[in-house]
Amino acid sequence: MDIGRTRKVCEILTLIKGLGYVSCLSMKCPKCGHLYSKVTDTRITADMTSIRRRRVCLKCGHRFFTNETLCVEYPVVIKRDGRKEEFDGEKIKAGLMKAFKKQSGIKEKINNILNGVLAEIISKYPEKVPSEKIGDMIMDQLRTSEPVAYLRFASVYKNFETAKDFALEFEQMLLDLPK
Ligand SMILES: [Zn+2]
Repeated sequence: MDIGRTRKVCEILTLIKGLGYVSCLSMKCPKCGHLYSKVTDTRITADMTSIRRRRVCLKCGHRFFTNETLCVEYPVVIKRDGRKEEFDGEKIKAGLMKAFKKQSGIKEKINNILNGVLAEIISKYPEKVPSEKIGDMIMDQLRTSEPVAYLRFASVYKNFETAKDFALEFEQMLLDLPK
């Protein structure tokens, strides 16, 4: 496939009125394999991270969808023992799910906290982030707004072993709560 020539053809096609937006080298038509399709509808998700396009193949008329998702580059995670690990937002989410158990409205709460933590990681640690900093950020987010989830999260994160560990953390949390 001559990419330069394909681009040229696309440019010309997009200039022709009535064709609408003709995608260059879009994903092939699942029915006939043709590479040109026309976008007939575009929808963006509420959080502005994903776009879904409805397309129609210019050769056979088959209708299909393509999805475009925002891909963010996260920093490498540096573990306590110095090992490097690939960043995994699902791990943070899983930790939060455990902390919230079966509370109502849990999905939205978790997504809000997760988005806050992810944004902080990208802005403060663009290349590498120590794993304990991620834990601290999550605890900061939970501490004043979600005290019960905070204690559950802290018990795992800080390795609480006795009731006394809980009591000490609880006392400190009460002192820190806004009056
Ligand atoms: Zn087709």
